[in-house]
Amino acid sequence: MMSKIRTRFAPSPTGFIHLGNIRSALYPWAFARHNHGDFILRIEDTDLERSTPAAVQAILDGMAWLELDFDEGPFYQMQRMDRYREVLQQLLEAGQVYQCYMTPEELDALREEQRAKGEKPRYDGRWRPEPGKTLPSPPPGVAPVLRFRNPLSGSVAWDDAVKGRIEISNEELDDLVIARPDGTPTYNFCVVVDDMDMAITHVIRGDDHVNNTPRQINIFRALGKEPPVYAHLPTVLNDQGEKMSKRNGAMGVMQYRDEGYLPEAVLNYLARLGWAHGDAEIFSREQFVAWFDLEHLGKSPAQHNPEKLAWLNNHYIKQADNDRLAGLAQPFLAQQGLSTDGGPALAGVVGLLKDRANTVKEIAANAAMFYRVPQPAPEALAQHLSEQVKPALADLAAALGDVEWSKEAIGAAFKAVLARHGLKMPQLAMPVRLLTVGQTQTPSIDAVLALLGRQTVLSRLGG
Ligand code: GLU
Repeated sequence: MMSKIRTRFAPSPTGFIHLGNIRSALYPWAFARHNHGDFILRIEDTDLERSTPAAVQAILDGMAWLELDFDEGPFYQMQRMDRYREVLQQLLEAGQVYQCYMTPEELDALREEQRAKGEKPRYDGRWRPEPGKTLPSPPPGVAPVLRFRNPLSGSVAWDDAVKGRIEISNEELDDLVIARPDGTPTYNFCVVVDDMDMAITHVIRGDDHVNNTPRQINIFRALGKEPPVYAHLPTVLNDQGEKMSKRNGAMGVMQYRDEGYLPEAVLNYLARLGWAHGDAEIFSREQFVAWFDLEHLGKSPAQHNPEKLAWLNNHYIKQADNDRLAGLAQPFLAQQGLSTDGGPALAGVVGLLKDRANTVKEIAANAAMFYRVPQPAPEALAQHLSEQVKPALADLAAALGDVEWSKEAIGAAFKAVLARHGLKMPQLAMPVRLLTVGQTQTPSIDAVLALLGRQTVLSRLGG
């Protein structure tokens, strides 16, 4: 019987989390959900100098926003130190790990020597116990590190679900330090203990970890366990083709919310950033989970494409419920110092504007005209509010006084007035726009007036 699929996202909370980072949560999440397995969140916070609570929060916020729910965790490595020490002790007793008293100075000297000979610097095994070998006596006052007894010969191989078979000769791997002089375990060791204890079946992570994998596999085997399946994801490049990072301008995941992106658009976008289902570009979260597999993960780096994200966001905005969009647009209006109290219902305004907006922020920017007192530029008024058009405006105001208040009836009133005065639509619509919302660029004027409401329109036209 196949064991239950269990995947994990294991971020280090050392900085902010960009789209490339959160994609490393999305794929293991989708794989677990597709297989009715479990998805686990593990925070790798052992780098005390660089880990921050704010970075942990950014990870949790990003996952919550995209609804990447986890079944277990968050587990924190710093809270598992006793467990790592226990396993270290086990390995020490089994002879899989040994104490090495080499001082930093000796290590430097060794490296120098190897470099001089044109060799790759590596630990020479001088404290590695072997049958018949006499070890030096431990120097006084030196706390030892623990080194993992890596096999000397043979190779370590795995069938990477993305990269195919990878085989590394053990001769290339020296005996890794797995505990520091103060006894704290090192990174590769903690990962293995966690993946073992958490019964992870599939490790889906960035390919910056490929070099760690042979070492981790050897540690697994020393613990008497078979390693999980590994799937190493090619990196995500920014739109300039460089590795995505904060330094070269990547945005944090939550900044996308703050710029007015919808989570379903970002999820759809990320799903395609390194994975494909035929040529499907737009699909729901449910479809994504139903389709997700490791076979269709991309083998080469994916490149971030902001235009495509904007296009997807526009698609999801058009589909989104107006009340929901209004709730999302409200804070953006508040940021502009605008209140919607006393103005038209924001949901109606959003409904009129959403088709042409790539972000909720853009909707809010366009919605502003409905909530501020119009202050048309004098030059624009001089240009559009000519003596010729004034009688038509008065006529329109009178007609609007008693039509049924709907877009259609308002449109019909416009047509009738245009016919009576021999004018063309822009000649009347421009001054009406200026007087009612203070600008000449608006969606169709009958729809704008319908939303503004009769009282507001009449008082502004009469003014
Ligand atoms: N903590 C590692 C990172 O943030 C990930 C380790 C792993 O997935 O095995 O890059």
